[in-house]
Amino acid sequence: MTEHAVVIAGAGPTGLMLAGELALAGIDVAVVERRVNQDLAGSRAGGLSSRTIEVFDQRGIADRFLAEGQVAQVAGFAATRLNISDFPTRHPYGLALWQNHIERILAGWVGELPVTFYRGRDVTGFAQDDTGVDVQLSDGPSLRAQYLVGCDGGRSLVRKAADIEFPGWNPTTSNVLAEVEMTEEPPLGIHRTALGIHSFGRAEYTIRDGQVIYAESGPVRVMVTEPTVGTSEPTLRDLSEALIALCGTDYGMHSLTWITRFTDMARQAAAYRDRRVLLAGDAAHVHSPVGGQGLNTGVQDAVNLGWKLAQVIKRTSPDTILDTYHAERHPIAARVLRNTRAQTALMRADDRFEALREIVAELLSMDEPRKRFAAMMTGLGIHYDLGPGHPLLGRRMPDLDLVTANGPLRVFTLLHGARPVLLNLGEPGSVDITPWAHRVQSIDAACDGAWELPALGAVSAPVAVLIRPDGYVAWVGDQTQVGLTDALTTWFGPPAAA
Ligand SMILES: Cc1cc2nc3c(=O)[nH]c(=O)nc-3n(C[C@H](O)[C@H](O)[C@H](O)COP(=O)(O)OP(=O)(O)OC[C@H]3O[C@@H](n4cnc5c(N)ncnc54)[C@H](O)[C@@H]3O)c2cc1C
Repeated sequence: MTEHAVVIAGAGPTGLMLAGELALAGIDVAVVERRVNQDLAGSRAGGLSSRTIEVFDQRGIADRFLAEGQVAQVAGFAATRLNISDFPTRHPYGLALWQNHIERILAGWVGELPVTFYRGRDVTGFAQDDTGVDVQLSDGPSLRAQYLVGCDGGRSLVRKAADIEFPGWNPTTSNVLAEVEMTEEPPLGIHRTALGIHSFGRAEYTIRDGQVIYAESGPVRVMVTEPTVGTSEPTLRDLSEALIALCGTDYGMHSLTWITRFTDMARQAAAYRDRRVLLAGDAAHVHSPVGGQGLNTGVQDAVNLGWKLAQVIKRTSPDTILDTYHAERHPIAARVLRNTRAQTALMRADDRFEALREIVAELLSMDEPRKRFAAMMTGLGIHYDLGPGHPLLGRRMPDLDLVTANGPLRVFTLLHGARPVLLNLGEPGSVDITPWAHRVQSIDAACDGAWELPALGAVSAPVAVLIRPDGYVAWVGDQTQVGLTDALTTWFGPPAAA
């Protein structure tokens, strides 16, 4: 039986990111993917949030995405746009880029790392014991792994086979989404009627001054709210009938390229871990696409899990560190589910909801609510509960410009290898972490920039910070080093024997 340290089921955005993170940490990782290549039929996610761009920047790959997408103020809550151009980040914007391109670029990066792919086959089941997991495949012999991670999407076989509950809310509304040719010119843009929302847009577009400018010709992407919640596979006929009911015409549509349905169903795995089996991405949480949070949440799940799993495999950390993955990431997706339910309710067609939308828009035009909601919707406000202390604790480390003995350096550059960093901004040589020197990079630097956090504003400048590989701050030092040994041990294992 072929063995790998970790087997990942599914090479969507989450599985790809996790494979990259584990490979960077030197772990033998294999990915089993149903699709024979990375091509994706249909449009799913339309872009990246600011924090996901930062996460890619932490690995030195943000430019690959920025070179292909369109930077724009894409954050929003229900119908209200949220401008983050004043946020303290190098990327105070989102990136419009279709998921097929996001996956292609991610797969290109993973392809540069030592990752084994088993494509064109399914994970069909598994059996776990005290030392590992036998992973059954639809084609070929089983694989043996120390850990199996289900990144196999909303209908996750891994989640079901692990018998992990998936409680939540049934759909109350459904939309058909398709790409077709049209002989008549449809009214491009988003339209709201008493029956719900429908929209027409060309697959090709540019964004100029915040406005979407569609290509003059080419296939049309249609989205239409269905009169009743659809459950079977949607057809061209369903779409045509829904459009005729709404617009009196289907604009002579033909040549369907793909068709799909999404709903506002919201469900979340009750546990992200069952011993040697873990869940990430859509396998762990599904919700309405409103607000564009699914792919972003999945990629960030992977970045939270990767280094922890790597340390368990290398035996530098006990397996209990994996429980912090659930403890930190479950509340994040629970909040996403909550805000998508609220946004779906706000999108309902009815004059009273129109009034409610106006009131919410008024509230969100005020500075403080705008900042808070934008921090939530972009992921920049994520705060893992690492206990009381400096506001930086459990929050993302800002990408500040540092001055070091070897010249200028950005904080994120230090994270390219997915290794932790002890950043000493005080007296050079004043922080000694020799027993962790082989695991944690230690660097003396100066930094004169302002310390400002999204939505929170200015915070006091720390004398030292311990930064995890996922870019979150695990310890903040003022004049003393109280708590540093504990934080190093908690996150990066016990000190090496002298
Ligand atoms: C209409 C729509 C619009 C969206 N818009 C946005 C947006 O703007 N922003 C955003 O962030 N998100 C958006 N999303 C959500 C986003 O598409 C998903 O959250 C994202 O794809 C989840 O990534 P994943 O890797 O977890 O799962 P998936 O992308 O579902 O990947 C799962 C992978 O596992 C494979 N697989 C499944 N079962 C098996 C098996 N048994 N064995 C082997 N392989 C298997 C599949 O082939 C697939 O490649 C949208 C979704 C929809 C439907």
